[in-house]
Amino acid sequence: MATEQPGSLSLKNGVELQRFAPLANLTTWRVGGTAEWLAEPSNLEEVKQIIDWAFTNKIPCQVLGAGSNLLINDSGINGLSLCMRKLHGSKLDQKTGIVEAVCGEPIPTLARRAARAGLKGLEWAVGIPGTAGGAAVMNAGAQGSCMAEILESVLVMPLNGQDPFEITCDELEYSYRNSLLQKEKLIVLSIRLRLEPGHDCKELNTITNKNLSHRKNTQPYHLPTCGSVFRNPEPLKAGRIIEELGLKGLQIGGAKISTMHGNFIINNGEASAADILSLIALIQEKVLEAHGVLLHPEVKQLGFDSND
Ligand SMILES: Cc1cc2nc3c(=O)[nH]c(=O)nc-3n(C[C@H](O)[C@H](O)[C@H](O)COP(=O)(O)OP(=O)(O)OC[C@H]3O[C@@H](n4cnc5c(N)ncnc54)[C@H](O)[C@@H]3O)c2cc1C
Repeated sequence: MATEQPGSLSLKNGVELQRFAPLANLTTWRVGGTAEWLAEPSNLEEVKQIIDWAFTNKIPCQVLGAGSNLLINDSGINGLSLCMRKLHGSKLDQKTGIVEAVCGEPIPTLARRAARAGLKGLEWAVGIPGTAGGAAVMNAGAQGSCMAEILESVLVMPLNGQDPFEITCDELEYSYRNSLLQKEKLIVLSIRLRLEPGHDCKELNTITNKNLSHRKNTQPYHLPTCGSVFRNPEPLKAGRIIEELGLKGLQIGGAKISTMHGNFIINNGEASAADILSLIALIQEKVLEAHGVLLHPEVKQLGFDSND
């Protein structure tokens, strides 16, 4: 697909759409081709205008957060890639523990702010480099906690530009790294959490800092990855299985299984999405052969269907 000349289109009020824009730098894996159309709105008005434009012109839309759980095809993404990472903002109520965050708010920022406000319940999230919206979609979690435990509701907009509406946590069908939002074509505009008020902020800061150091000591945190590639086939751990099969360090093209953590694939700077996919398939094959278990990728693949 998208090998044509870059360009841009201005909608009314100056909202800009880029044409054939590179996507690799909008993901933490740093791979993938170009977006036929790319929009990075900075407020909710702009989101509405962009969605109306896509719907009117029958252009399919894919939503990106911080791209920390995405594998984008080398041939890029057809239609509109709507990146929400510039939509920042959060409000924390120290008395009630209610936290409201716009979808592009980085989860580590939110975790830090909550700890400083004496609100308990997000200390585990400090090392998850995603956005509030992406974390709600993925039911992001760590250290035995996850979004489903603290989320009250999300405000969503349908991709046909109809009015936003709220969905409560109970309706989101949360399970391990899964939610209704992964099936329904909805844009998460904001999230509402309920944390526990009245805790000692010093203590929360210490726990938060410890969680981040632990992660940096056990994961290749500073390198281009997407975090854990596979869901854990509970009660087993994907990383442990991969390690025990002696697969750490295995490399295809520029994609390499981390020597630090078996469930991480590193882009050594020259990986393509095809390299990563081949390595994923090889790991699946070896694990299936040895354990009869098919590992399922946690990472979302974009641009691989003829529809996107
Ligand atoms: C170093 C590293 C460590 C990680 N550690 C963890 C961990 O401990 N636990 C964990 O659960 N994950 C972890 N991850 C994975 C990732 O950070 C999470 O899945 C995160 O929640 C993804 O958020 P995102 O904003 O980057 O979403 P993206 O990767 O951009 O998108 C993920 C999915 O959500 C959808 N999406 C994103 N934003 C929206 C929106 N506003 N509206 C509708 N759909 C949207 C996308 O279409 C896609 O389907 C890690 C990743 C890295 C790189």
